[in-house]
Amino acid sequence: MSARILEGRQVADAVKEEVAAAVADIPKEVGLATVLVGDDPASHVYVRSKRRVAGQVGINSIHHELPAETSQEALEDLVRSLNDDDAVDGILVQLPLPSHLDEQRITTLIDPGKDVDGLHPYNLGLLALGKPALVPCTPQGVMRILDHYGIETSGARAVVVGRSFLVGRPLGLLLGLKGTDATVTMAHSRTVDLAAFTREADILVAAIGSAKMIGPDHVKPGATVIDVGINRTEEGLVGDVDFEKVAEVAGAITPVPGGVGLMTVAMLMHNTAVAARTHVG
Ligand code: NAP
Repeated sequence: MSARILEGRQVADAVKEEVAAAVADIPKEVGLATVLVGDDPASHVYVRSKRRVAGQVGINSIHHELPAETSQEALEDLVRSLNDDDAVDGILVQLPLPSHLDEQRITTLIDPGKDVDGLHPYNLGLLALGKPALVPCTPQGVMRILDHYGIETSGARAVVVGRSFLVGRPLGLLLGLKGTDATVTMAHSRTVDLAAFTREADILVAAIGSAKMIGPDHVKPGATVIDVGINRTEEGLVGDVDFEKVAEVAGAITPVPGGVGLMTVAMLMHNTAVAARTHVG
């Protein structure tokens, strides 16, 4: 293995320290409401981890757990009441929701000032305008990793594989912002000859959801490879990148677990502190 390992833990710890200091400085209790609907085991794990980290940084966790058969109306009523509640600075509705519920409607109903997931069209619109406010957590976490490890983005060729509104698309916007200045290509399932694009990348991000799909033939020697994927397989959690093989070629690489996933939770706390700071003026 030759690549430098970009550990998420130390970056996440640095962010959490910053957030704890910011929260201590806010003249009110900072509150994060989590809403979990149904029995999806992965969602339960994620929400537990978010609540635990909230406690670590001094954020009050307000948790609502609803049965899988919850109606759209009942969920909308809950979101409206959280929007109106001054004790709540951030609202996180854990996705995916059960299939009978309209995720887009729920996301759009959240007060943009409390939208700590950064997925409200208003916040995504600000990001597209180059005026980011509350930025989606995983893409923001990727940017913090690049920054922490001094990976040069200006002038770099960045290829993001995946164009979801949760990860790939906002990350492409962030990488291309003025001041960050990467030249960004976004690839997806209809991209023809994916490897021809990824081999051009100085920074290659995999946000696909396909275990170990990115192999050494996809990677330019010395490139930075960021693996966003989380895939549950018989051998445990693995990323979208074939870590062992790609680490022989890449210059730097994030592991799974222990990479981007830790950052997602840390950036959620960061966004909650930003929202609370705005609420106190
Ligand atoms: P998603 O909504 O399913 O999007 C996947 C994207 O990958 C789509 O744009 C899709 O293209 C593209 N894609 C699928 N197969 C492809 C292929 N063979 N070649 C090229 N592109 C392909 O998934 P997501 O929500 O963005 O999540 C992606 C991965 O990140 C998942 O493993 C997820 O668990 C993980 N994730 C991790 C974190 C974290 O904290 N680390 C947070 C969120 C998500 P089309 O648009 O053409 O369908």
